[in-house]
Amino acid sequence: MVTPDTPNGLFIGGHWTIGSGRLFSVDNPADGQVIATVADGDATDAAHAVQAAASAATGWARTSPRRRSEILYTAFEIMLRSRRELAELIVAENGKCGADAGAEVTYAAEYLRWFAEEAVRNDGTYTHAPAGGTRSIVRRQPIGIAALVTPWNFPAAMVTRKVGPALAAGCTVVLKPAAETPLTALSLAKILSEAGLPDGVVNVVPSTDPAVVVSTWLHDPRVRKISFTGSTPVGRLLLHQAADRVVNSSMELGGNAPFIVTRDADLDQAVAGAMIAKFRNSGQACTAANRFYIHQDVAAEFTTRFADRVCGLRVGPACDPDNQIGPLINAEAVSTITNLVDKAVQHGARIAARATCPANSTGYFYPPTVLIDVSADADILGQEIFGPVAPIVTWNDERTLLDHVNNTETGLAAYIYAGDLQHALRLGESVQAGMIGVNRSLISDPAAPFGGIKQSGLGREGGHEGLHDYTEIQYLSVDWP
Ligand code: NAD
Repeated sequence: MVTPDTPNGLFIGGHWTIGSGRLFSVDNPADGQVIATVADGDATDAAHAVQAAASAATGWARTSPRRRSEILYTAFEIMLRSRRELAELIVAENGKCGADAGAEVTYAAEYLRWFAEEAVRNDGTYTHAPAGGTRSIVRRQPIGIAALVTPWNFPAAMVTRKVGPALAAGCTVVLKPAAETPLTALSLAKILSEAGLPDGVVNVVPSTDPAVVVSTWLHDPRVRKISFTGSTPVGRLLLHQAADRVVNSSMELGGNAPFIVTRDADLDQAVAGAMIAKFRNSGQACTAANRFYIHQDVAAEFTTRFADRVCGLRVGPACDPDNQIGPLINAEAVSTITNLVDKAVQHGARIAARATCPANSTGYFYPPTVLIDVSADADILGQEIFGPVAPIVTWNDERTLLDHVNNTETGLAAYIYAGDLQHALRLGESVQAGMIGVNRSLISDPAAPFGGIKQSGLGREGGHEGLHDYTEIQYLSVDWP
């Protein structure tokens, strides 16, 4: 819920400002109503944010790791204390159901705790040269000012997954959240400030002109890092821009996760996992199961049970706590998914199950849907659906299965449900994805390296790797006669 205390300005150098004075409105996807107006950052504001980050950079890099850790830990505690308010804010601007929003706040806060712990373990090495005569010291130093760009689907977690490691490493940041969901990011900046973060270490510039803001940052010689989460086309564009100044780049891009069920899988577990992998966040997750490959011997049984669960899903605004599926982010998303499903049906797919949407709603709802008889080369299997639609394909030959599963450039996540664990692991090693859930569908974990292979991204967030993404290695060769 938006309250008079919800920040809606630009956050630059520790101050709230309206910058150029332009404003934009934020809508609630559950009813299309305006919930807030927010300062709309431009190129001048973007430059001011870099200036603030530059002024704070040396002090923050020299702040002891212990102190950086304490600030992150305090912010983690404030986030948990504010869990209900933050979840309500996420519901208001993103539309996801209350349970998903609450889970996101906890998950997002855990990145701050994890990186509070990592901040004091930014280890280097001290070694003897094999030939003697020198000692080698290898240390990790903060990479410098980091430009962070986040999407709307996890308005809190995508921010803390970048801000946490950047601050732990000693970097200052400029952040541009998605224009659909700027309020959560601004509230997180407020929390970090309350936790004791010095002015200028985190600066937030919401904008309806992301290209201008981000390109201002990428062309500023003081910015040394871009970390982007969003679609593959925009990621590619930013990589081109980053190339001009050889800016260190981390990319968390689109997915197309296969969900594989083998003949000996526990079907209760597989169906429960399918519900999570597909319908969490109304299917608007980069890790969402995008295509279901079910062994032909169990396909009928799996489909019956899955369809039954899908028909029972309650779709509607989060103000009713019993609703499990919220709206999509906007009308365009509804239209894209409608077209994808219509096209699949024109090419022979059948709707095996469909939940009911609220009648006469002005919100952007799309009914959870199960599609069967989907041909293995259908468009809907090759494209990120980003919504609550589950296309099912049956398989019986493992080699053909793997050909289909790996026939994508977006290898972010995959799910395998199998009775024989060794079989599952063997399959997993053959699937071209950065993250694989084996008999489980919640794979995101602050303590693990999140990221994709092929065109799904570069670098990893979370785990020990997440901190490394914000550091640069320096090696000192010391004469040792
Ligand atoms: P998007 O690429 O449209 O937008 C992401 C961010 O980039 C937003 O902040 C947006 O304002 C900004 N942006 C848009 N155009 C830009 C430009 N020309 N220059 C600079 N910035 C620009 O993506 P989206 O629709 O917000 O999010 C959905 C996509 O994000 C999906 O493809 C999803 O898979 C992906 N995603 C990936 C991960 C991951 O960790 N791999 C996580 C969440 C979402």
